[in-house]
Amino acid sequence: MWVQEVDNMPEKGDQSYLRSRNTARILESLRQNEGFSRIDLAELTNLDKKTVLNIVNDLLAKGLIRVTSRQADGAGRPKEILGLNGSYGRYAGIDLGGTHLSGVIIDFAGECIASSDIEVHNGMEPDTLMKLCVYLMGNLLKESGLKEYDLSGIGISFPGFVTSSQGSVSSENFPKWQNIPIQKMLQDRYNIPICVDDSSRLMALAELWFGKGRNRRDFIVADLGFGIGCGIVIDRKIFRGSAGKSGEVGHTTVDVNGPLCTCGSHGCIESFAAGWALSRDAQIIIREHPDSLLRETGGNSPEGVNFRQVILAANLGDPYCAALLNNAGKYIGIGLSNTISFFNPSRLIIGGRLVQNNEILLKAITGTINSNCMKQILEDVEITVSELGDGASAWGAGISCIVNAENLFFATLQKKES
Ligand SMILES: [Zn+2]
Repeated sequence: MWVQEVDNMPEKGDQSYLRSRNTARILESLRQNEGFSRIDLAELTNLDKKTVLNIVNDLLAKGLIRVTSRQADGAGRPKEILGLNGSYGRYAGIDLGGTHLSGVIIDFAGECIASSDIEVHNGMEPDTLMKLCVYLMGNLLKESGLKEYDLSGIGISFPGFVTSSQGSVSSENFPKWQNIPIQKMLQDRYNIPICVDDSSRLMALAELWFGKGRNRRDFIVADLGFGIGCGIVIDRKIFRGSAGKSGEVGHTTVDVNGPLCTCGSHGCIESFAAGWALSRDAQIIIREHPDSLLRETGGNSPEGVNFRQVILAANLGDPYCAALLNNAGKYIGIGLSNTISFFNPSRLIIGGRLVQNNEILLKAITGTINSNCMKQILEDVEITVSELGDGASAWGAGISCIVNAENLFFATLQKKES
């Protein structure tokens, strides 16, 4: 079990800050664990009982938490067991990827109410992709039985940089997506808060709240898919870098004479091992090896082949695709060894669409890390595969809306105190 510690004690007299921090601790405790009474919460958070009673009563009155059951407690009054109130808010999370558009609707407790997936490609015009986002939202609302007005926010997970405070985005892997004001476009359409962030960071947020990062203070999430990035969590906080561009491990160089990368450099990890690089090399396999199974799984069309078809052919025993994935895994392993040496994390969580049903790649990654990483650092890190599956970044995008909703609630507390 994990309780967020108060790492920056407020200045004397800053009651509103202290109240926000304590409220955050209680909400996090209830998110991570079920079945707590007020007394349990006081013991768990080390806050005094009066503070917990005040905060719990306020959260109950505002509807962020609810009484989930009552337990008989000897001769006294039954003990009220508390939990987050899912219906406090419903939030959509949409993950824009190089080959997919996937979405979820989650509630305030983080429960997934609906999910949907559409295949796309990275050469799409922004307007077309926006139409598909609206279409996906329609599917999600239909599945959940909710109406647009039931949603309190939409989170967008984007594989690139947020280039302005207004939520414009750019990506090396989406040639037509340069300085696209996605936040404004969705805000104009839905008129609710829109949160936009990098997909690897949102994947890390999902791991932090509901995945294998739940009870870890620091960890790294490797986001392997059409592109390659990583999310960094230090002291239970997402590390963003000075300008929100941290985690670009995919664009670190592993061979100065390597292939041209989408960023303009040569020999980045992505240029060998990202989903887009595997598609490029898969085209060569289809053209040069008539006996390759990829001709079957890839529909005999070099242009349209994608990394999922490569994984499928490799799993069916195709030696060319297996060699391609093995080679990619080695380069990813080198990059992750460097990252582990740099950060000394307690856990490395490997996730993303590229690792789904891809034992060959995973074996090459872990084998390379085990043989490349310094022994003394390697023994500190546990290497594990995410259990959140394909939808981790979409879920993280929904969670970013919950973070936003909590921050809005804390702002009302501060207003009340001032
Ligand atoms: Zn690059």
